Amino acid sequence: MFSNRASIPSALASFRLDGYMLCYSAFVPKLYNWCLALGFDAARIMPSRAFCSDESQGFPTILMTKHFGAFPFNHGRVGGIVSLNRHAPHAEHGKDLLLLQASHVGYDADSGEFGVYRRLRTEHETNSCSCGKIGSVIESYAAEYAYASENIRLMRHDGELAVLVDYLLISRTRGPGLFPLFERLVRGAGRELPRPLATRSTGHVFLAADGLIARLGEAAWPAEGSEALGARLEAEDFYFRREGAQEDPFQDQLEENLLAPMPWIVTAKHPLLTAACANTLAEFERTYRSFVRAPVMHGRNLLFVAGLNIDISPKHGDDFPLTKFVPWAAYLQRADGTRQVFEQDELFARLGEACAVNPSQLDLERAIQALTQHRDVVVRL
Ligand SMILES: [Zn+2]
Repeated sequence: MFSNRASIPSALASFRLDGYMLCYSAFVPKLYNWCLALGFDAARIMPSRAFCSDESQGFPTILMTKHFGAFPFNHGRVGGIVSLNRHAPHAEHGKDLLLLQASHVGYDADSGEFGVYRRLRTEHETNSCSCGKIGSVIESYAAEYAYASENIRLMRHDGELAVLVDYLLISRTRGPGLFPLFERLVRGAGRELPRPLATRSTGHVFLAADGLIARLGEAAWPAEGSEALGARLEAEDFYFRREGAQEDPFQDQLEENLLAPMPWIVTAKHPLLTAACANTLAEFERTYRSFVRAPVMHGRNLLFVAGLNIDISPKHGDDFPLTKFVPWAAYLQRADGTRQVFEQDELFARLGEACAVNPSQLDLERAIQALTQHRDVVVRL
């Protein structure tokens, strides 16, 4: 998905949000009814979910339980990563199989801010980062970007338009971090940087690249002193290298998914939203390929739907958040071996056509009540 750097912006833009949101309370019965329309056996569907461990994902899980009549198998890890090694146990637990994957992002309806979620169980019902796991991955990259945007500076040198570049950003021997694509910033830069015009205590001065001058206009250069490039350091101007892989491959997958699109994430209007979308794009493709190759799934009815959960912060006194789902893509595999991928428009249309009423939904209160009235069973040791 993100292996070709030039295609990353269009890949990210292809996940459309506006006009594609479904309230969970309508989405889940629609998903259930779509499964029935596809020929799934209502009483033998084993739902599964790959959601983040955040408690905000509980409401979608409860709705899946209610409409599918079974608590969904846990098919995921923190951050919305699919555990590919759980296909076999999931397949053993039901006849027809559903997997719903969603990365998530919090939303504050009052401020319009993405990436925050109100925690009603904290002492003062304060907002915190959501998705916190994605936020923790992005944090160090955002700090690298902040440093680079402050330490690549516009200046004039002997009347020439120039850039002052911090030595740290020039060093090729350092490990992880932000690496500028100097051909976009420095005139004459290719694989190597040209000879600097001058050397300062913390960086070299180079002639500005023609493309940079054309992009910013000569007036962007201060008459005296220097000025940080700031937000004018664009995603196309740099890439990141990361530290070595962590011990836990599942924890590592999230950072792996986000590494290539990270320049577009840290420069986005809503970084946590862009990151959650990027993770869903990567996870759909990765999981789709794993299903195609998994022998345990052959001859089975399987529907895999991936998308984004937008957790709209609950207000004081609310029991649950108002969560919205934005579908991205689906993969359908039938028992007869036929396979089909649904792109976003078609998936949204299929869900739109499906009925939002589910007369066979489980009455959770009654089901729990029935359990309490059941005869007791002695566990013999
Ligand atoms: Zn999360």
